[in-house]
Amino acid sequence: MNKVKFYFPDSHDYVDPTFDFENETNNEHRVIQRDDKYAHEIFSRPVYDGILVSKAVVDGISGVKGKYSVAQRQRFFREGIYRFFRLPKSYSTIGDCGAFSYANEEVPPYSIHDVVEFYVNAGFTNGISLDHIIFDFAKSITESQKKFSPEQLTEFKRRKEITLDLAHEFYNESQSQSYEAYGVAHGWNPESYADSVSDLQSMGYKRIALGGMIPLKTQDILSILEKTAEIKKADTQFHLLGINRLNHIQEFSSLGVSSFDSTAPLMQGLKDDKFNYHTHADDYTSISVPQVEANNSMRKLVSSGTVDHDEAKRLEKACLKALISFAKGEVEQKSVLDTLCEYEKLYNTKKSRREAMEKALTDQPWKNCNCDICKDIGIHVILKRGAARNRRRGFHNLYIAYQKLQHQLSLMK
Ligand SMILES: [Zn+2]
Repeated sequence: MNKVKFYFPDSHDYVDPTFDFENETNNEHRVIQRDDKYAHEIFSRPVYDGILVSKAVVDGISGVKGKYSVAQRQRFFREGIYRFFRLPKSYSTIGDCGAFSYANEEVPPYSIHDVVEFYVNAGFTNGISLDHIIFDFAKSITESQKKFSPEQLTEFKRRKEITLDLAHEFYNESQSQSYEAYGVAHGWNPESYADSVSDLQSMGYKRIALGGMIPLKTQDILSILEKTAEIKKADTQFHLLGINRLNHIQEFSSLGVSSFDSTAPLMQGLKDDKFNYHTHADDYTSISVPQVEANNSMRKLVSSGTVDHDEAKRLEKACLKALISFAKGEVEQKSVLDTLCEYEKLYNTKKSRREAMEKALTDQPWKNCNCDICKDIGIHVILKRGAARNRRRGFHNLYIAYQKLQHQLSLMK
């Protein structure tokens, strides 16, 4: 079976295992991150093959702090990535620089020396060269000339050259290091991507990350891969940065893709308004029970006097109680829906979501899910309410995405 590895880009994504869903309390003595659990600690089987960690997330950029506290950052380097994440050695790790976070700068804010030091000190198994994103795409050279101004094309070329120069330096610096080095290819049409790949292969790279593709349609990604296939060496492997198109994994793999990374399954669980609970067959909308005191929009509605605090609090509690009782088989579905809709009237001025709530409560998809989260917390996984539930729903989506990936891979010869 051809293996295509899925890397999960971590951005401090963990949950508190002591959270009590009925009483909504957690262990007050818990130390954040240290006592929390990552997805690879929650599930009894893998939901990714490795994690991707960006230098920008750990170290910050140009004086702006990253996501790590000073103490966490120090511990990350002291313990190394495997111990810090409590990650078994069977997982891969890949480091990158987080090019999106400095895309608007004239040049990348780090030196190759900084980047190599970051990968070595943290003990990554793979490291991606420092790059600079190109933000536009045309389907061909002819279309590029019509679509882009001469100034735009000059800027695209400048960024491509910066990325290739840095890749050259990175390759040389990485030869004596223990991680596997990836060069990055950027472009603004299939031909310029293929040029970058060709140059990186000439430098000696066998592993190449293709960047700047997140906004592209799948067909455009395929046209880039088809173009690069013309010059790709047999042992060159591609990594797709930030791409999650599970239905096309077989095609990607046949064109040389051996890995990709994406936060999409998690982020859809957290942020997507409609389809944020995934299953193999269907996607569901979570059931909102906003926290009157912790949800930003609820707080605004209360402070502006649009919503009465006590009434909102009463309905919030009633909804939670009704849902928990429903899960135990003690309350009829209609009465739960009525309570949910009564609360919904306070915060949703648009069309009621009764139908979506009804679908979730009728199908109860969490009952058919074998993942450790659904088995553990049941109905709470589909409630849109606070990080404890929302992030777990994102983790559940990671589980489903990884299962879908493994299914796609199993169909390949
Ligand atoms: Zn699940």
